[in-house]
Amino acid sequence: MPLDANEDRTGFAELALRPELLGALSGLGYEEPTPIQREAIPPLLEGHDLLGQAATGTGKTAAFALPVLQRMEKDRSATAPMALVLVPTRELAVQVSEAVHRYGKDIGARVLPIYGGQPIGRQLRALERGVDVVVATPGRAIDHMGRGTLNLDQLKMVVLDEADEMLDMGFAEDIDQILQAVPEQRQTVLFSATMPPRIDRMARSHLREPVRIQIGRETTPQGEAPRVRQVAYVVSRAHKPAALGRVLDVEAPTAAIVFCRTRDEVDQLTETLNGRGYRAESLHGGISQEQRDRVMNRLRAGTADLLVATDVAARGLDVDQLTHVINYNVPSAPESYVHRIGRVGRAGREGVAITLAEPREHSMLKTIERVTKQKIEIEKIPTVADLRARRLELTRAALHESLLEDDLASFRVVVESLTDEFDLVEVALAAVKLAHEASGAAADEEEIPEVAPRTERPRREQSGPGGVGGARRGRGPTAGMTRLFVGAGRAARIRPQDLVGAIANESRLNGRDIGAIEIADRFSLVEVPEEAAEDVISALRGATIKGRRVQVRRERDTTA
Ligand code: AMP
Repeated sequence: MPLDANEDRTGFAELALRPELLGALSGLGYEEPTPIQREAIPPLLEGHDLLGQAATGTGKTAAFALPVLQRMEKDRSATAPMALVLVPTRELAVQVSEAVHRYGKDIGARVLPIYGGQPIGRQLRALERGVDVVVATPGRAIDHMGRGTLNLDQLKMVVLDEADEMLDMGFAEDIDQILQAVPEQRQTVLFSATMPPRIDRMARSHLREPVRIQIGRETTPQGEAPRVRQVAYVVSRAHKPAALGRVLDVEAPTAAIVFCRTRDEVDQLTETLNGRGYRAESLHGGISQEQRDRVMNRLRAGTADLLVATDVAARGLDVDQLTHVINYNVPSAPESYVHRIGRVGRAGREGVAITLAEPREHSMLKTIERVTKQKIEIEKIPTVADLRARRLELTRAALHESLLEDDLASFRVVVESLTDEFDLVEVALAAVKLAHEASGAAADEEEIPEVAPRTERPRREQSGPGGVGGARRGRGPTAGMTRLFVGAGRAARIRPQDLVGAIANESRLNGRDIGAIEIADRFSLVEVPEEAAEDVISALRGATIKGRRVQVRRERDTTA
């Protein structure tokens, strides 16, 4: 169904969410609920317990956060939290807190991540001032309960997020202990990527007649999924734009559609791609019908090669020339994957589906493989050498084509005049060089680091006892990242988690966005995405790290 510009653009309205939430979602550029949200939100709003099987990347955070916020009184004044979310790691605590904060900003939700490693004093002060939603790792939650600083009496909802990971990390007893201390009359939600018997047991002892949902259980009828070469690249978030560029250079699609999650992502990526010399057009729910028609005409006429779109905007879109579908993120459900890749490989033509997955989204790829009963090959991001070879191959193919055409006579005089002085092969080499350079092959010398697919969470690289050694210092930051100088280091007992905590608390970045951290005696260096650098600097300017104000600025270039 083509998108009507006047239609409700969030698709969330039918879920009967309150206006403050609808406003926040539309502000974030979410165009419609993901399958897990569509299935989980209604029973949660009705007050049922819920047992959901869903991995990262499915949108599960909003699936529980929105119902939590829906139940929250606006600008609530009580001090004790009304919801507790338990998560396995510090990183996830920060990430979930940020999500709840974003969705709940118009409701005035006070959200606090509490996790080990962060100075407890700050958490104590925040808890004393009053919070609505606490997102905690089980160990730290128990600490606070022991100190009497986390009052669970007012809890209306408890969420166990990534429960299987919490069990794997040995938190089973902590969780039992916490759940014994919360009010009986509460709603309990459990999300887990896998459902081993231990999770079932946990659900039986702590959930009441839960509604069960499983994303990816629906199997696609055999033969329905199209025959398409399916490839995935595992790449860290910071390197995604570069990886996409590299993959596009090697694949050289005639026409491709790149799927993104949100409007903002569509707009940003379109800009990045145009900056890299592609002809990319964006398509999302915020775009008028007229503009949409123009974009589609450009794509059909071949004056645009790339369409960057959200699922909603791409619905009903039919482009014959399409050779590649690219998932800039792992889709939120296997059905959505199948739907997207169904746009290529039609009528016997070869199609290619490419997915960029962050290391922790690997399990979602496996789910998609299981549901589609098709293999997604994980390939290595092409290296600079691969790219050069590929570009030479394209030049060779172009020359071959030109040789087959019969219109070269007028150039004979050039070749003949040069062969008086040079060898024929040399003349050919020079001509190939010119043709190759004229094809606009931009120099791209930066290797994209390989990352392994993984299910466990990444651990941040910590500097060794030597800290920022001389050799290290001169090295440039990772591509797409900027290095910030922070005027406090080991002498002030700064640890990587303090920097991550400060940045995640004060800016819009979350732990996953932050790159390598190096800590020297008197200062530290932190890599942040280039586009966020100014934001982070101004956010940290007023903030304190470990109780003291510190100087934060871009690292001065120490290389010549
Ligand atoms: P999660 O599985 O909760 O980690 O969410 C994965 C990503 O999807 C996050 O970056 C969310 O911001 C994003 N997301 C969640 N729900 C939606 C939605 N309905 N539309 C677009 N993006 C979403």
